[in-house]
This record gives sequence, structure tokens and C-alpha cells, in this order.
Amino acid sequence: MDCLFCGIIEGKIPSDKLYEDDGILIFKDIAPEAPFHALAILKGAPHLESVASLAQFPERAGDVGRLFAVMAEKQAEWGLDGGFRVVANCGRDARQSVSHLHFHILGKRELSLSLS
Ligand code: AMP
Repeated sequence: MDCLFCGIIEGKIPSDKLYEDDGILIFKDIAPEAPFHALAILKGAPHLESVASLAQFPERAGDVGRLFAVMAEKQAEWGLDGGFRVVANCGRDARQSVSHLHFHILGKRELSLSLS
């Protein structure tokens, strides 16, 4: 499987890491849409392409929960006490461009109301 974010996990593609442990990697988005824009991803198998993949692999839902717990733990350290937005694009209609489940974390400015 040729996956960009797996390449980042493996260190074959450079990234600006903000957090890493055995199961989670959080790194800066290469094309930030806010002063703070990071991507939070899971490591390990089975590989989840998107939120929809959790239907096939529900045993990974706990890992996703832990990823949110890490975001909550780190947000103040990242200067997000004013608030932040977590977004997951899923599939074609949402214009998901990388088929490795990821959560955008956006903040450090007032975000628009529009989610579309
Ligand atoms: P999505 O469109 O939801 O699939 O988001 C993919 C995100 O990955 C986009 O915001 C891109 O800017 C980001 N991205 C693509 N390549 C890289 C990279 N090498 N390092 C960091 N972020 C990347």
C-alpha cells in the first residue's frame, strides 16, 4: 500500500511532529489553513482509510478515543485555550485527499461558522 501518511509514520517522508507515541502521531499540516493546523493520525494495523472504515474495524474505535484524549491533554500546550476545531473529511464528497484516517486540528484564530 502506498500511503503518504504511512510514509510519514515510517520517517520516509519528513514531518514537523508535535506529538508521538506508540500508537499516535500528530504533525503540522504542510498547507496550514489556520495559524495552528495539525493532523492527528493513528499508527498500526489494520490501516483505516477514513472514519467510515471504523464500520469494518470497530475494534479500533478505542484508539480513536485515545487520540482525542491526547488532543485534549495537549491543546493548552499548543496555545489552543481559546478554542479549536477538529475536522475529519471522509470520502469523495468531503474531498478527502489522503486515504489514511486523519483529524485536522485548527485554531489560534476565530474560525468561520461555515463547515462546508
Ligand atoms: P484531507 O484533504 O482531509 O485528506 O487532508 C489532507 C491534508 O494533508 C491536507 O490538509 C494537506 O495539506 C495535508 N498534507 C498533504 N501532504 C502532507 C505532508 N507531506 N505533510 C503534512 N501535511 C500534508
